[in-house]
Amino acid sequence: MAPHSTSNPTPDPHATTLSYDFHPPAPKPESPHHSFLLHRSLLLPPDTVTHASGTTLTLSPTRTIIDACGGAAVSCIGHANDEVLAATIAQMRSVSYVHTGAYTTAAAESLASIILNKNPYDLEKALFVSSGSEAVDAAMKLARQYFFETGRPERRNFVARKQSYHGNTIGAMSLSSNLPRKVPYEPLLLTNVSHVSPAYAYQYQLAEESEEQYVARLAEELDGEFRRLGPESVIAFVAEPIVGATSGCVPAPAGYFRAVREICDRYGILLVLDEVMCGMGRSGSYFAFEQEGVVPDILTIGKGLGGGYAPIAGVLVSRKVVDRLRDGTGMFNHGQTYQAHPLSCASALAVQKIIKRDGLVARCRSMGQFLEGELREALEGRKHVGNIRGRGLFWAVEFVQNKETKRSFEPRLEFGHRVQKKAFDLGVAIYPGAGTVDGVRGDHVLIAPPYTITETELRKIVEVVREAYDVVERSTMLY
Ligand SMILES: *Cc1c(COP(=O)(O)O)cnc(C)c1O
Repeated sequence: MAPHSTSNPTPDPHATTLSYDFHPPAPKPESPHHSFLLHRSLLLPPDTVTHASGTTLTLSPTRTIIDACGGAAVSCIGHANDEVLAATIAQMRSVSYVHTGAYTTAAAESLASIILNKNPYDLEKALFVSSGSEAVDAAMKLARQYFFETGRPERRNFVARKQSYHGNTIGAMSLSSNLPRKVPYEPLLLTNVSHVSPAYAYQYQLAEESEEQYVARLAEELDGEFRRLGPESVIAFVAEPIVGATSGCVPAPAGYFRAVREICDRYGILLVLDEVMCGMGRSGSYFAFEQEGVVPDILTIGKGLGGGYAPIAGVLVSRKVVDRLRDGTGMFNHGQTYQAHPLSCASALAVQKIIKRDGLVARCRSMGQFLEGELREALEGRKHVGNIRGRGLFWAVEFVQNKETKRSFEPRLEFGHRVQKKAFDLGVAIYPGAGTVDGVRGDHVLIAPPYTITETELRKIVEVVREAYDVVERSTMLY
């Protein structure tokens, strides 16, 4: 006899499901933070934000925070901009969704145009997706198809760099070398990706080496890696012009990207630059590559594209790559449901119009110089401040235990996280990073406020970061 029809019936699990009314039950008294959401941490619930406006996050009626990092350098014109809200709502009223297999919208066309129209870099087309990781995966497929179209299927390898981050989907994570984020998934990752040294002068340029010699050594290593793989087997070299979260706003030494471009060209290998974090004005120029004297074959953009108003990222494709597809199958063999989503495109278009109209890239550059000055004045002399670096409004402070040897703290001290936590308690949100040097050791905090930030706000931010640092330095002496 089935258990359900005994004289003492147990409840039918299906019946329970069907009668479920979707009202969340009251949290159990023993778990005051109960949540149905799978947060990043199952142990420490994040703070709830009830309101975000300009540079201010409101956590409760009595608690506000200055957002000095815009999440991870996402928010570039501040929160709750009325023009972006109006443009997004207007788009919602006109067309909220269509499939890109059959349709296009003015919002998507105008967004591509505002980014690419009359650009002097021969970037011809834009593809819009919903996240930086998807953009990087799409860039990988595009680069592979470039060779596939012309009967070069033997090209299958990618070379990226250690201490880089390109995203969390399987393809993008394979390019990344942000170790803590990769370890559990190692068996799932692509095996046709190898990593060369980062261009990270503070920790890796030798004392006896000039900048030029350091660049020559890195160039030789890249060339050696291409030759080891067989240059005819390599699809692309992928790099961030300014390394973002992983090692903290690290610009390359002068001449590095020119050397890289030359080596790629020698072997017909594509250069893919990932500007998901450092692009769209963040570095003080609209594209970060403009300051390197090179142009990529494929560029990924993201965070500052939508400025946080919508999930959107993009791939910008050079004429050279588009031509191969146009002359070949005539298709990019890739697509996603929410590609070029009209609402995302309308939001991002409004953000980009504001950046252009209000001259925010130039403002980002000049405010960045002010921030640099304030940071150096407040922190450079401190015992554990090893390096202050960045560009535009994209700055990091790297902490070391010993400034002479540049040796970092024991990871368990969580020096950078403690500075970030203390600053947060004092009312300023900055972005922490650990594993700065090699994936395990190293600490930094990242400051990336919106381009609309004022000098008064920047002074306050730096004052709080210095105070947070001082508290952590004092407590570290006890270890
Ligand atoms: C954030 C980031 C990504 C991934 O973007 P998501 O939107 O988080 O998927 C890729 N590359 C770089 C350089 C990034 O900073």
